[in-house]
Amino acid sequence: MQYPAPIAKLINSFTKLPGIGAKTAARLAFYVIDMPETDVTEFAQALVNVKRDLTVCEICGNISDTNPCQICQDESRDQSMVLVVEDARDVMSLERMQEYHGLYHVLNGVLSPMEGVGPEDLNVPALINRLHDETIQEVIIATNATAEGEATAMYLARLLKPAGIKVTRLAHGLSVGSDIEYADEMTLYRAIEGRREI
Ligand SMILES: [Zn+2]
Repeated sequence: MQYPAPIAKLINSFTKLPGIGAKTAARLAFYVIDMPETDVTEFAQALVNVKRDLTVCEICGNISDTNPCQICQDESRDQSMVLVVEDARDVMSLERMQEYHGLYHVLNGVLSPMEGVGPEDLNVPALINRLHDETIQEVIIATNATAEGEATAMYLARLLKPAGIKVTRLAHGLSVGSDIEYADEMTLYRAIEGRREI
């Protein structure tokens, strides 16, 4: 027996979400059928609004409901530092820490020759543009500790250093609460390389 068309359509929509297979999609669809109508309307509205009300900040590339975003607009933040991340979600993680008070720049990806992603596909020109303003003195590269993240960091360092900008990279090493015994060789190597005086 086939599902009635509205249910089939909803199941199909749920399968477009990451990590949701046909079975889970069907379970969610039937759950929605039993939900109060006000909740369903609110849920549907939230889905529409998240697309309609969000925009990309023209300065830093962050996802925001204002343009420029609130971080770029905040004059109390340290204007001499820009932290470069792969993704807008990274900005949110770093903001949760509440210890970084500089600015951000979102690349929207990393260099990946395998997937055909080159420098022209990243939000790099806007970064170069921002550096023409001499208030920025340090660029902290916070791409992920993956091969692509490293290659992107090296590319940016080569690009920015000749302009006299201080380019730093987030430290990589042992995670808090971990044992040296269980750390992999690359992590240990990075931890030794990134050691600092105490
Ligand atoms: Zn911004």
